[in-house]
Amino acid sequence: MFQSLGDRLSGIFDGLTRRGNLSESDVNAALREVRRALIEADVSLEVVRGFVEQVRDRAVGAEVTKSVTPGQQVVKIVNDELVAVLGNEAVPLDLNAPAPVAIMMVGLQGAGKTTATGKIAKRLKEKQNKKVLLASLDTRRPAAMEQLRVLGEQIDVDTLEIVQGQNPVEIAKRAQKEAKLGGYDVLFLDTAGRTHIDEDLMAETAEIKAATNPHEILLVADALTGQDAVNLARSFDERVSVTGIMLTRIDGDGRGGAALSMRAVTGKPIKFLGTGEKLEDLEDFYPSRVADRILG
Ligand code: GDP
Repeated sequence: MFQSLGDRLSGIFDGLTRRGNLSESDVNAALREVRRALIEADVSLEVVRGFVEQVRDRAVGAEVTKSVTPGQQVVKIVNDELVAVLGNEAVPLDLNAPAPVAIMMVGLQGAGKTTATGKIAKRLKEKQNKKVLLASLDTRRPAAMEQLRVLGEQIDVDTLEIVQGQNPVEIAKRAQKEAKLGGYDVLFLDTAGRTHIDEDLMAETAEIKAATNPHEILLVADALTGQDAVNLARSFDERVSVTGIMLTRIDGDGRGGAALSMRAVTGKPIKFLGTGEKLEDLEDFYPSRVADRILG
């Protein structure tokens, strides 16, 4: 039967009735459980190691106050550290720049970029009354451009006219011009993905960034890819310095460990969670909620 980390930690400390400070051996037993819980939640090993050390530093010698048990004390320390690594506060999309504010969506093929573009655009239009233009820069798959156009129609948001024969940078520049002339507040640049990280993808992404200087670069990553999501985040962030992350398919990921890994490795905020296929399935990222899920 599944036992939450909190219950397991309490179990370890059941026999321990004395108060005072947590000893190293008390903490070591608890940390084994913490380690196991994080690995079960699909947090990457390198992140688990660093995290466990941080908790050890804070927990050994920590005073157990009268109002809590040693188990509760360690759970609190673990929870506080989780929230800290996840970034403490929610970080909203930053639209604080002269219009049209360009938001570039990057990531692997199938990660959910186009769907994410539609979800965020719909929210900006409906909740913040923004005039939004969508542009697909995916010259490799004509179906991708058509997919974005259909999405735009569904949410009643304009899409850039499809012109054959232009490269992604030319399309992006045309989109910026159109967005300016048309008085749009926000422009989404939905880039082409690849099936895996390669130089071609990175070079194209960097070239589009250099040509358009987007205000936000959102890395869209599939939460179900676990450890690969960490490598992906590191590669993209090193090359184009992303401004935020959107994790998709959280609906299929029980514990959300990928969030912890990606945030820890890049230091970049996770801004959104994709919680399903529908365009309403978009949530802001709250560190404390995800910490609760990981703790189980
Ligand atoms: P892209 O190639 O990165 O643009 O990916 P798409 O946006 O075309 O998405 C690929 C598939 O993933 C589609 O079938 C989407 O409906 C689905 N998808 C996208 N986001 C989510 C999500 O948050 N949850 C679930 N369950 N499916 C999603």
